[in-house]
Amino acid sequence: MKVLIADDDKVLRMLMERQLQGWGFEVMTAQDGAEALDILKTHEEPPRLLVLDWEMPNLDGIELCRKIITQESNDPPYIILVTAHSDQEHLATALQAGANDYISKPTKPAELRARLGVGLRTLELQNRLNIANEMLAYKAEHDELTGLQNRASLIEHLDNEIERTKRTGEPLALAICDIDFFKRVNDTYGHPVGDRVLKEFADRMRETFRPYDLVSRYGGEEFVVCCTSLEAEPIAIFERFRQVVESTPFLEKDLSLSVTVSIGIAAFNGISTLTTKEIMLELISSSDKALYSAKHSGRNQVVMYDPELHSETEESDTSITYGQTC
Ligand code: GH3
Ligand code: MG
Ligand code: MG
Ligand code: MG
Repeated sequence: MKVLIADDDKVLRMLMERQLQGWGFEVMTAQDGAEALDILKTHEEPPRLLVLDWEMPNLDGIELCRKIITQESNDPPYIILVTAHSDQEHLATALQAGANDYISKPTKPAELRARLGVGLRTLELQNRLNIANEMLAYKAEHDELTGLQNRASLIEHLDNEIERTKRTGEPLALAICDIDFFKRVNDTYGHPVGDRVLKEFADRMRETFRPYDLVSRYGGEEFVVCCTSLEAEPIAIFERFRQVVESTPFLEKDLSLSVTVSIGIAAFNGISTLTTKEIMLELISSSDKALYSAKHSGRNQVVMYDPELHSETEESDTSITYGQTC
């Protein structure tokens, strides 16, 4: 573990450096607060355990504490302030400034070592908490089976994409991809085979679409993709994916499964009087209508939503401008 010692007293600094090295720490030193702050700001992996003298030129230990804790971080350092002042008032000032612990000069080796041990334990707990939080955040956004974004995450990101399209006029296409007769896969070969087909389907999606397209598992055997910065007509982009699914059988031990997908697309070019949420609902509902049409025209095909063909209500014709994306 790396430790930073900041003290303007060269003799004390070197003495402590040697002590800490003897206890197995990797030690960095600074001769005043400004140098310490510089190390913390510029070092690639700055030390997270700090032993700071209170009285130092340029920037004292208290000011340094204040500067460190105002920098918002999930990974704040553990600060031990060292000082000749040992009264209650100074102790309170040090803790209020952001120090985690306080030790009086001259430091006694056994006490210093024990307090560094507390710092190590605290940092270790903080580390574990950060890892657990990252895992929770990942789980909250991803589908467990396929590793794709889940519906909640799609909705959140879609919001931003629709906002962007409204602002820039750069079109987006939203598609629902629904595996054809997937229930038969489960019924014929069992649920675990069905699961593996879903995973392989998701892998093919990841390989086909670009990293900045939103690719999500919307639920069951339905996947939603949102493409922006369209380099081709949406129908061509999704026709390519339809072929990727149809052309190569899904291999499952000694089985070779032919899988097909039906896809319904709705495109948005930024012109709308609706709110972002309403546009999102409209796009999902329109692509679902196009999907319905694809299913009823024989499956294994891509259908672009056309308000004249697929809309049951008149109002949606005027609220969103469909098509003409490129
Ligand atoms: P269609 O062509 O009309 O879409 O027919 P389908 O059989 O694909 O559609 P249906 O809605 O009748 O069935 C979907 C099936 O997907 C039923 C459900 O058991 C299965 N399914 C949903 N989630 C999972 C999952 O996580 N794993 C497995 N193995 N199957 C799933
Ligand atoms: Mg000093
Ligand atoms: Mg299906
Ligand atoms: Mg379905």
